[in-house]
Amino acid sequence: MECDILIIGGGPAGSAAAITAARAGLKVVLFEKGPYGRDKVCGDGLTPRAIAALDELRIDYSAAHRIDGLRMIAGKKERELSWPTTAKYPNHGAVWPRQKFDNHLIDVAIASGADVRFESEALPVLEGQRVIGVSVGADQYRAPFTILAAGAQGMAAKILGAERDPNETFGLAIRAYAPTPRHGERHLEACLSLSDEHGTAVPGYGWMFPAGDGTVNIGVGALSTMKEFKKLNLNTLLDQYHALVRDSWSLGEYVEKPRAWRLPMSCMRRFGPGWVAVGDAAGFVNPMNGEGIDYGLESGILAVEKFIADPVTASEVYDKEVGERFDAFLRTGRRFSFIIGHPWLLKPGLRIAVGTQTAADITLSVMGNLIDSQTPGAAGRVLKMADVTLKVADPLLRRTRARA
Ligand SMILES: Cc1cc2nc3c(=O)[nH]c(=O)nc-3n(C[C@H](O)[C@H](O)[C@H](O)COP(=O)(O)OP(=O)(O)OC[C@H]3O[C@@H](n4cnc5c(N)ncnc54)[C@H](O)[C@@H]3O)c2cc1C
Repeated sequence: MECDILIIGGGPAGSAAAITAARAGLKVVLFEKGPYGRDKVCGDGLTPRAIAALDELRIDYSAAHRIDGLRMIAGKKERELSWPTTAKYPNHGAVWPRQKFDNHLIDVAIASGADVRFESEALPVLEGQRVIGVSVGADQYRAPFTILAAGAQGMAAKILGAERDPNETFGLAIRAYAPTPRHGERHLEACLSLSDEHGTAVPGYGWMFPAGDGTVNIGVGALSTMKEFKKLNLNTLLDQYHALVRDSWSLGEYVEKPRAWRLPMSCMRRFGPGWVAVGDAAGFVNPMNGEGIDYGLESGILAVEKFIADPVTASEVYDKEVGERFDAFLRTGRRFSFIIGHPWLLKPGLRIAVGTQTAADITLSVMGNLIDSQTPGAAGRVLKMADVTLKVADPLLRRTRARA
């Protein structure tokens, strides 16, 4: 079968690409190995940046639970923050449970004319260095452009050399749903001062993301720069966090067994002749907050736009432009992760980050990558300074990284 674009993976990144391609009148086939309605393990949080991407895609998100800001907790300090007001991003986010969110996106892709095949595991087919299409079982599909949107790196990524860089940070996180009378709240909650069962500070956070449907998405995530990361038991960490918030949230027991998954934050190769990687497959997860949905939507749209502009140069131009948009920020985030991997740097850092309301507002803008380059303000200056300082400190931070 011949088409214009083949997409491997039906998460937000793949769907965003499929919607953009189908609306442009391209013949696009998306393969999703899961069934219709598969549920991706996630915190379900959409930042204003993700809402802006949904606006760009003209997605109706009225079914999502609106979120106006974040309650940041570090030890005994608690700060209630509103999303920043910028010209570039709206000042609201949302919580949209992934099963419903992903279904909605894939429904829009199908309604726009994309051919979506569920329960179809697709693998890239190469002719020399060039990807010429995909194989699904015994069937072959050909197209000049294949988009790898397969999430955290697996077999399809391995074939393309698009695996995670073993020297770079990655994250692991676990989530569950639990009933709470506070499900309708308009603030996300993040506890930045987590410790494991041995009292070691965990670089990461615990979250309560109210879903507005009777439940809250409760979860914890940690970065691989932590000492004893390999021994970290996420189920235990989640249970400890559940015990910590049980009373204040009048929290019930988990609705189903907690599930964990990886957060890839690097990629050795994100393009080549005839293909590009988008979303998690390209390692586009913000190390400062674990956000990946927005980066998936943005990169999925961009990849198709570049193909429409010029199919011949699409792969190289996508790599360049997506790099200009994300690389510096994500690199700073990865460097930052080596700092907070040291408990003796994490603790004083947290005191500064939430020390005053202004500091906490800046922390929120920086961590959420919510700085408008036209009007960067104080948060923009802090990010620039962090960029320069971390570049200098990076080799030392990596050499002295917290090890088991
Ligand atoms: C516990 C946890 C909490 C998180 N919380 C948040 C949050 O609150 N907000 C946020 O923005 N991000 C969050 N993230 C990150 C976010 O979930 C991902 O960044 C996001 O799902 C990336 O979208 P994607 O489309 O790139 O990949 P995915 O959503 O993973 O989709 C990839 C799809 O590809 C399919 N696939 C894989 N291989 C193949 C193949 N060979 N053929 C066909 N199909 C294939 C998979 O079945 C999957 O459906 C969290 C992650 C975790 C683990």
